[in-house]
Amino acid sequence: MKSILISIAAVLSTSVLIAQTVSPYGLRTTRLAAYQASVVRNPNMELLDLEKVVPGLVLDIRYATENNFMRKRMYTLAKAYARKPVAQALARVQAELKTEGLGLKIFDAYRPYSVTVAFYESYRDTTYVASPYRGSRHNRGCALDLTLIDLATGKELTMPTAFDSFEKAAWPSTPVADPVIRKNRDMLIRVMEKYGFRVNASEWWHFDFIGYRQYDVLNVSFEELENYGTDK
Ligand SMILES: [Zn+2]
Repeated sequence: MKSILISIAAVLSTSVLIAQTVSPYGLRTTRLAAYQASVVRNPNMELLDLEKVVPGLVLDIRYATENNFMRKRMYTLAKAYARKPVAQALARVQAELKTEGLGLKIFDAYRPYSVTVAFYESYRDTTYVASPYRGSRHNRGCALDLTLIDLATGKELTMPTAFDSFEKAAWPSTPVADPVIRKNRDMLIRVMEKYGFRVNASEWWHFDFIGYRQYDVLNVSFEELENYGTDK
């Protein structure tokens, strides 16, 4: 009897690994094995390491530090991943910016679904944190939080607010009096939108890749991607 129970448990745990799992919020999320299978079926599903695809990309992954709105380290690795077409579009943005002496700095890219749940369970305000009932576009590997840097100095260009500000000044529709700040913000939005991204209505730094709906919500950890992901 005991061995039968053990084999039933083994079958169940294997099927959980292969299939999608349903979160306590009723959302289907994809774990490592199902993610790997999806990449075999469709190479565009692959999460690419942005540092390997976008030359000269600067990372400041805030959720891998305590310098974020949670005041806690939420990621165990400071990595930026995005789906293949997203990564390729970002490489084109970086190439265009380079001709102006500018580059990109990434604050956040792919985010495991478990972290979205942790944000929500701390804040419960879906104006600024994604609903775990729907998941974030970051969970789909299709959203990027970023800003512009001057390539000569490495310094960030001045923007209307800091990253992850909950102020109305962070809304792209809010008028900016300072002409330099307005120019910086509008240049970031213009270049990103030229290559297939759309800015978020309440965050000047957040861009969604158009077509994100084709990509599933992933709950794959950074360690899993590092060790077992299909990224070359
Ligand atoms: Zn974001």
